[in-house]
Amino acid sequence: MKIMIRFCMVLVALSATAGCAAPIQQWKGNLHTHSVWSDGTDYPEMIADWYRSNGYHFLALTEHDMLQTGERWVDVNAPDAGWPPRNASARRALPGYRDRFGADWVQEHIEGARHLVRLRPLAEYRTLFDEPGRFLLLTGEEITDREGAHVNAFNLSSAILPGGGDTPRDRIAGNLAAVEVQRRSTGREIVAIVNHPNFIWSLTAEDLAAIPDVRLFEVFNGHTMVNNAGDSVRAGTERIWDVALTLRHAAGLPPIFAVAADDAHDYREYGDTISRPGRGWVMVRARQLTADAVAAALRNGDFYASTGVLIRSEHRDERSVRIEIQPQAGAVYRTYFIGSLADTPLDGRPVVDSAGAEIRTTRVYDPGIGTVLAGIEGHSAAYTFRGDERYVRIKVVSSRPHIDPATGRTIGRESAWLQPVFRDVPHE
Ligand SMILES: [Zn+2]
Ligand SMILES: [Zn+2]
Repeated sequence: MKIMIRFCMVLVALSATAGCAAPIQQWKGNLHTHSVWSDGTDYPEMIADWYRSNGYHFLALTEHDMLQTGERWVDVNAPDAGWPPRNASARRALPGYRDRFGADWVQEHIEGARHLVRLRPLAEYRTLFDEPGRFLLLTGEEITDREGAHVNAFNLSSAILPGGGDTPRDRIAGNLAAVEVQRRSTGREIVAIVNHPNFIWSLTAEDLAAIPDVRLFEVFNGHTMVNNAGDSVRAGTERIWDVALTLRHAAGLPPIFAVAADDAHDYREYGDTISRPGRGWVMVRARQLTADAVAAALRNGDFYASTGVLIRSEHRDERSVRIEIQPQAGAVYRTYFIGSLADTPLDGRPVVDSAGAEIRTTRVYDPGIGTVLAGIEGHSAAYTFRGDERYVRIKVVSSRPHIDPATGRTIGRESAWLQPVFRDVPHE
């Protein structure tokens, strides 16, 4: 009975706007982007132009600890300071910015030795890009903790500065709570993502499992320093996801949905760069391309994450899940149904170093947690529930390599991550 109730809720959520004429469509978007407002290397209009002309439907500029509001000028003649030096980035990007948008749009002011360029706020430049049903810029911010535990939030009415706390877990919980306070007080459709858990090894699966407000996290982040795959002793982001899903299911907490995002910083330089655009994105299912609809779809798990694989359709009912893959030239696909069974032990043991000291990282769990329940080759795949799964999620892996344009290196195979289905298990 509990299973039926859960699936009815899903169906109700999917059909809540069934009277609306617009069909559900898939919208491609990047949810993690930096410009010269913080530590990106180009002007936001140049970045929005790239995404819009490369097949994206929406883009969030997520600067560190700020919204793109207010009056801001950069002196491109100032000595370089900080990393990356923002004045240098604004100086190098200026000729291309002028070429693309013209002297009437680019606002410059010479004041003695100072050469000031105005950073146009989102509210001004979005008029160049936003187009109903075609492209949408989202208001975003990356709430930036000092030890790598970062949160992206969307549709905020004002910036949220990172709060205090003794541990990354405490601070993430506090920052998510601040987002929730703003969501409730404004009534806006605000949604937050926990970013790159393995950047500076800031967050563990147990951290993500313990914070009820965690609803989305980055399973793939395109920055070259975020350790998506983990290392010899630390779990990768997919393992973190599976452990966190299992522990949350056992604790009666809601699932965590996974996004892929560029975390783009570098737009012009090739070679020694850290994060180029175009490697990880989400495909959101919604009837309309609006900020509220995108945020609601993210909150409800009506999307999937991709680094190249496209999913034509996904169907779930109380007995099974089924997908159709959009074929791409030369690609062979393998679909994995991944989950944890109810009788798999939940106790983990700590990871220790060569001296026997515990390393603060995700514990080691039974291999039955996040195990492959089935693997199917082809353009469609289906899985019938056994009845004792805590959750089932789907990952599709293509034979095509996923190449990071920042380094030219292959960083795995093109993949898609679909959202987990939480199941009721017999003895709970
Ligand atoms: Zn970050
Ligand atoms: Zn970032």
